Amino acid sequence: MASTLRIARESYRIKGVSTDDVLRYLGYHGQSFDGQLARRIDAAVVRCLTLAKPRGTLAAFYVHRHDEKAIELEGCTLCLIGHDICAHLDTASEVVLFAVTLGADIDRELRRLSLTDPLGQVVFDAASTALVERAADAANAHVRAYAAQKGAFTSWRFSPGYGDLPLFTQRDLLAALDATRQLGITLTPSDLMVPTKSVTAIVGVHPTPQPGLESSCSICSLYDFCTIRQTGRTCRG
Ligand code: SF4
Repeated sequence: MASTLRIARESYRIKGVSTDDVLRYLGYHGQSFDGQLARRIDAAVVRCLTLAKPRGTLAAFYVHRHDEKAIELEGCTLCLIGHDICAHLDTASEVVLFAVTLGADIDRELRRLSLTDPLGQVVFDAASTALVERAADAANAHVRAYAAQKGAFTSWRFSPGYGDLPLFTQRDLLAALDATRQLGITLTPSDLMVPTKSVTAIVGVHPTPQPGLESSCSICSLYDFCTIRQTGRTCRG
């Protein structure tokens, strides 16, 4: 049976990232911070939004075989190995894969700052991590809308390296998405992605609501990108 979600490449309009998110990636947990750091964060976010080209690629695959140790998908060679991913996708009939990236200009800026402004590099790195997570939110909102249109529900996004899902899963995941051709994402010999500000994710499509589903749209990280609300419905059914 053919799946219906296949987006070779899409761009995301992201208006900003929250200072709280940047502070979290800088390792702040409620400590006070001065005006100078706040100004540096604001400048880094503006620079990041100027240089980034947030883009993503998505594809859905039906589950071919699923036991407690491995999941095979129809129409691709990706095999998801590990107890954690198998438990996470326990009731999924379909799995959506996606990859997002901010592009190579962000890495070039990080290299430039490493030579000229090491503190600026740290702040810019945190800002760009926050931004690529927003790009992942945008792709995730697309997956949520796809599931809602089928009367189904998504699980939270899982990535290679979480739990016991091996990092080498990246290789077949990127191949299943044709992400090198579509987005320019490649892997180092140790399976780290280049551009560095790239994220891959695996999202299950399930017949019943999944743990972690927001109780209200007002607290949803996908809110800015959600198309479900425009239809007068929510992803909660
Ligand atoms: S904003 Fe509401 S309807 Fe949209 S994805 Fe979030 S919780 Fe679901």
